[in-house]
Amino acid sequence: MVYLVGAGPGAPGLMTLRGMELLRSCDAVVYDHLASEELLAFLKEGCRRIYVGKQSGHHSMRQEEINELLLSLAKEGLKVVRLKGGDPFVFGRGGEEALCLKEHGVPWELVPGVSSAIAVPELAGIPVTHRAVSRSFHVITGHKMKEDGSLEREMARYAGLEGTLVFLMGFGQLHTIVAGLMAAGKSGVTPSAIIERGTLPGQRVVRAPLSRLEERAREAGLGTPAIIVVGEVADYDMVCEDAFSGLHDRSFKDLRVGMVGTASFQERLKAALYEAGSNPVPLLTLQLISHEQSLKMKAAYDNLESYEWIVFTSPNGVELFFRGFRGHGLDLRALGHVRFAVIGIGTKRKLEEKGFIADYMPEEYCTKALAEGLCETVRSRSSRLLIPRSRDGSPVLTERLRAAGIAFDDISLYELSASCSQTVASGPMDYIVFASASGVRALFESGHPLLEHGWPRSTKALCIGDATAAELEKYGKNADLTARASHIGGLIDAIRKDMSRQ
Ligand code: SAH
Repeated sequence: MVYLVGAGPGAPGLMTLRGMELLRSCDAVVYDHLASEELLAFLKEGCRRIYVGKQSGHHSMRQEEINELLLSLAKEGLKVVRLKGGDPFVFGRGGEEALCLKEHGVPWELVPGVSSAIAVPELAGIPVTHRAVSRSFHVITGHKMKEDGSLEREMARYAGLEGTLVFLMGFGQLHTIVAGLMAAGKSGVTPSAIIERGTLPGQRVVRAPLSRLEERAREAGLGTPAIIVVGEVADYDMVCEDAFSGLHDRSFKDLRVGMVGTASFQERLKAALYEAGSNPVPLLTLQLISHEQSLKMKAAYDNLESYEWIVFTSPNGVELFFRGFRGHGLDLRALGHVRFAVIGIGTKRKLEEKGFIADYMPEEYCTKALAEGLCETVRSRSSRLLIPRSRDGSPVLTERLRAAGIAFDDISLYELSASCSQTVASGPMDYIVFASASGVRALFESGHPLLEHGWPRSTKALCIGDATAAELEKYGKNADLTARASHIGGLIDAIRKDMSRQ
């Protein structure tokens, strides 16, 4: 089955519920550059992502190839989402894809989207119709099919229309459009506007009379994607203070937040930051290497009955422990006697997904509190603890348990590899979020250009957990903020609180 889904104009909040539901459950997604990448954060694990490009000028895959791709994915029996910017049938070539699927007997469904033709001007304060001012709006492609002057001739027809003219894919032809309209009699003083990256962080709007539009666009250095609006309504500025509320939180607008952590952590954080209106910047991605099949873990799975407690210090630990557990041929009955301790709310929730309610969680999210709490809670000194965690887990936990005479097996379940991909980000960051001590180490050891002259003064460090903060201190930088929870909402709250203090 193939779903042709409209992704809306850019801000993820402007997608339909039906579209989001499909996005979360599909097996493969085929997307192009206008479909917000942030939406990909909602895909389920293992979902295939196929980028088919299509920026004007560099078509990375031809339409016929995209059609073929959709057919072959559907024939594999996958639930395929073809994600398209705006609405699939507004200049999106969705029609061609639908016809091709129909012709080949592949079942398909259409999910309309909020078209940029209306939403982009709207969120820039320009209503496409307005009582007594504009009684119609015309959505026109500025794309040139041929170099035969036909676009110029078309402009002559549009110049006579009374309503609002909305040009998509027209930025590259701005001169032809403006000159064509004016040559056909459209007045040079007609209010006009260009909106670049509408609804997205960094949106820019340029307004000018038609005759000066090109010059103003050049001065501002506008680029694509952009929409051109010509008509009386372009003079309106109906942006209310919270035009983006629900889409973007204004206090976060234009905030640049660097992220250091695993790909899955970054995707979750990115979606939340983006929704809050800020610009997430991946700085360095750590690879998660699982040791769930190591001899030590195998021995632990074989001897589960000897453990009274299992202690988890991260959601990753929970995920991998249960993967290895199933891989070892075990089912939940093997854990019936076990009590669970977790370090914080993120880990607790992950454990709940696996069907278990944590028996102990410290009030404060930190290793020391977990260690102290366990010493109090584990009454019987004969009980044994299993601690499957990151290879770089903080020694604070084990030292404290040892001192209290509690027996445990501290087993390396995974490690975060420093062999990582690094992004060179330009411009200063407002915050850098570190998800783990390994991330701190990796960023400093990688010689990242951002740290070329030491820690940048205008950047704040947000560490998840005290162990991460302690690692940062070793590199001579104190954490400006230490989040007491590893779940994404907690991080956003920490930044929000910090900003309200400023
Ligand atoms: N199907 C889409 C339009 C595809 S044509 C829809 O319904 O919105 C692509 C053109 O849409 C771009 O060249 C640009 O003119 C416009 N566009 C799409 N998203 C935009 C955005 N966020 N900001 C400005 N223009 C946008």
